[in-house]
Amino acid sequence: MDPIPPAPKRRPRPPRRIEDLPLFASKRPRPAGNAKPPVAKVPNRVTFPDKKVIKHSDMDVPEDLETQQSRKQPLPRSWASPSVWLPIMSLAMLLAGVWMLIPPRTEESDLPPESDRTLPTVVIDAGHGGQDSGAMAHGLREKDLTLDTALRLEKHLRAQGFPVVLTRRDDRYLELFDRAHIANRIPRALFVSIHFNDSTTGSGDGVETFYAQQKAAFSDDGWTFAGLIQGKSEPVPMDQGASFAASIQASIVGELGVTDRGAKPRQLAVVRLTRCPAALVEGGFINNPAEARKLASPEYREKLATAVCDGVVVYYQEREMMRRNQELAGR
Ligand SMILES: [Zn+2]
Repeated sequence: MDPIPPAPKRRPRPPRRIEDLPLFASKRPRPAGNAKPPVAKVPNRVTFPDKKVIKHSDMDVPEDLETQQSRKQPLPRSWASPSVWLPIMSLAMLLAGVWMLIPPRTEESDLPPESDRTLPTVVIDAGHGGQDSGAMAHGLREKDLTLDTALRLEKHLRAQGFPVVLTRRDDRYLELFDRAHIANRIPRALFVSIHFNDSTTGSGDGVETFYAQQKAAFSDDGWTFAGLIQGKSEPVPMDQGASFAASIQASIVGELGVTDRGAKPRQLAVVRLTRCPAALVEGGFINNPAEARKLASPEYREKLATAVCDGVVVYYQEREMMRRNQELAGR
């Protein structure tokens, strides 16, 4: 039998935090080093309605008290009285109820940082590769320029916080379907394919960006931009890549001052077979001598990669704004 400790002179002050109330006490172990509180001593035959009573050696202890004692967190003796803990538990439940009724704040500054708003993964596809060199002129091979630009774009997108996947990061051949499939395995993706142009006359110039007007049919409902964040349906019409391509094209033209050949629909395999918004950039004409000189320069390719990155960022920001406005309108 434990010695009976001296009765506390003052009644313990009610705890200030919900977690510290008896209802939640078992979830928050008290810090070690504190003086050991006196062991609970419950008068015989005190009954606790709705509590299973366990026969102890010399006293009847409700199960929850027994559990706490076994964790070496005995309660002060006065706490064992229902006249103390019943009102406190009631207060705790009231506070919990009030807390649950408070609507979540939705100001932008209060948005959770990452949990449900992570950035989509950008899949960068360096066109051609391996035995497929793509366009070749003036000592340049398209497959080399696309890989170099893709790696530069990856660096810029990662600096902006985007997860990035490359379809290839060395000189290898990939089927078009396999390139699209890489993006289709990612639930939240944006797809950018990098290419350089070739013209029959050698006089073509400027940059153009393609998207698929009609995506290939998929067995499921496919990707939706809004759905990736909150499981809501995509705004109608769903973006197949038209605004994605337009954003990238506008960024390149604005930052590089090149001839604007436009963002245009074309049923190219990689943009058609990808579920996500997809764009294919033709970043200049390899067989145009003036453009070839620019494309041969690492500084120019760096600028091109920066511009594509900016286009992706602007697109994402605009879509986010649209999604939030739709949410507000739907309330
Ligand atoms: Zn190409």
